This record gives sequence, C-alpha cells and structure tokens, in this order.
Amino acid sequence: MAVTVESHATLGEAARALGSGATYLGGGTIVMRDLNAGLVQGRVVRSTDPALTQIRPMGDGIEIGAGVTMAAIAAHPDLGFLHPVVRAVGGPQVRNMATIGGNLFAAHPYGDLAGALLALGARVTIAGGMQRPVEDVLRDRARVGLVAAIQVPRPRDARAFGFRKVSRVKPKGVSLMSFAALLPREGGRLRGVRIACVGLGPAPLRSPAAERALEGGTLDAATIARAAQLVTDGLDPPTDALASAWYRREVAGVHLRRLLEGML
Ligand SMILES: Cc1cc2nc3c(=O)[nH]c(=O)nc-3n(C[C@H](O)[C@H](O)[C@H](O)COP(=O)(O)OP(=O)(O)OC[C@H]3O[C@@H](n4cnc5c(N)ncnc54)[C@H](O)[C@@H]3O)c2cc1C
Repeated sequence: MAVTVESHATLGEAARALGSGATYLGGGTIVMRDLNAGLVQGRVVRSTDPALTQIRPMGDGIEIGAGVTMAAIAAHPDLGFLHPVVRAVGGPQVRNMATIGGNLFAAHPYGDLAGALLALGARVTIAGGMQRPVEDVLRDRARVGLVAAIQVPRPRDARAFGFRKVSRVKPKGVSLMSFAALLPREGGRLRGVRIACVGLGPAPLRSPAAERALEGGTLDAATIARAAQLVTDGLDPPTDALASAWYRREVAGVHLRRLLEGML
C-alpha cells in the first residue's frame, strides 16, 4: 500500500488528521524504521507547528515541546538535570532526530527519558489543552492522542535527582534497564520519593516497594539496601533477546543500589 505524508501547520490540524487512523511522525527514529519494514502503511501525519520545538520556563519547572530533540535538550543550559539522561539515548545521529514526545511512546526496551520524566512527576499536555500526569500517559499510550508538550518540574537541588542506565553495549547500546530517582529531602528525611524503572515492564513504571522503603527515612546504607532488595516486588520484568526475566530480577537491585549510593 502507498504511504502518503501530510504536513500540517498547526498541532490542531494534525490532531484532527490523526483522528482518522493515521500514524504521527515525530523525529522518525522508530516510525521510519517501521515504515521501511512495511509495518507503517497508509497516512503519515506530521506538524511544523513552532510550539512543538519550544523550551520555556514555567513556574517551578520547564515546558518542553513534544518535538524537542534529545540533542536540543542536551544543549539547553536550563535542562542540566536531564543531560545525563538524553546523552544516554542512542548515538549522535539518533539524538539529533529522537524527540521527547516520541520517547513517551517508544516500546520496550526504549523509554529512558520517559522513565526520567516519570520520576520527576512530569505532566503531559495533549493537543487541545488537556493535561495528564505522565504515568497515565505511559499506562494508556494507545489512546493518548497527539502530545503537544511536557511540563517538567525542576528538582530542588542537584542531589535530588539521579539516573542510571545499564546496557550491554557501551556507549550506544539500548537499555537492559534504566533507573531514575527523585529523592527530595526535608530536614534530612526523604519526602516525596519517586523511583522509575525502564526495562522491568512493558513501559516505564514506578517501583512502589522501593519507594516505600525509602520514604520518610534517611538516605543511608541500610535504607538503600532495603530499597534495592525490594525494587522488583510487584513488577513483572520481561524476557527478551537482551536478558531473561530472572536475570533482570537478579541485577535490578544491584543497579538501583549503585544509583542511590551515588546520590548520598
Ligand atoms: C539505533 C537506535 C538507538 C536507540 N536508542 C535508544 C535509547 O538508548 N534509549 C531510548 O529511550 N530510545 C532509544 N531509541 C528509540 C528512539 O530513538 C527514541 O525512543 C526516540 O525518543 C523516539 O522519538 P521519535 O521522535 O524518533 O519517535 P517517532 O519514531 O517519530 O515515533 C515513535 C512513536 O511515537 C509516536 N509519537 C511521536 N511523537 C508523538 C507525539 N508528539 N504525540 C503522540 N505520539 C507521538 C509515533 O506515532 C510513534 O508511534 C533508539 C532508536 C534507534 C533507532
């Protein structure tokens, strides 16, 4: 079947066009591969709306247009807390094309930036203006619609946010798993902990057991060891060509512990 590409000047027009069963094209790192493999057919919709590539301060955070690339985030001085995350996505060619919006929809084993956004408690604006927590979007990806922008709260200080990616091939390999942790401290106690995992489920998700082990405590070796021991409780890691579910369960705690020790 022939593929037609429609370019729309506004997000609103693109969203209406998508409503009738087309595929949205962000940076294309996944869509173009699927198209070349014959997996995407029919209509492909893209938008040249300038709002898609804007990065602007907003309250305590920053709003990032869904079409902003990993390379643009890596070059932005106000987004230093995300630099280690986006620099871990693919190689330079991929980072020049891959968008933050596309990362929310990238299937396992992808989604490193989506995991970081989950830990940070980001909110997602859908074309038309509705806002949803990023965890809702990650749970319901097939029905979300066109993402316009992502609001990212800024961590209180550099020690409050950390990221760790585990891959077999360095530096450009896909994640065997990755972790992002938000550890806000109040009077020495951890309050509002969020631990996000990529590669331990069908989409980036939080580890409620690890969060419970850390919440209200102090960040010390004993608390970290408990969180590491519990991290996969209630999760159902997949088996794939990269690793078995058993292996993922065995090593997840080791890598979460290394991440948290780096945030002491
Ligand atoms: C060689 C290679 C290495 C990679 N390495 C990594 C890695 O290390 N870590 C990682 O996380 N990912 C990796 N990826 C996956 C991918 O590059 C990223 O996840 C990227 O962020 C996807 O964004 P995109 O704009 O290219 O998405 P596209 O390919 O354009 O789209 C992907 C999906 O998202 C949907 N989509 C895109 N934008 C929107 C939007 N605004 N609203 C609604 N739906 C939208 C599309 O319809 C499609 O279903 C890699 C890919 C390749 C090819």
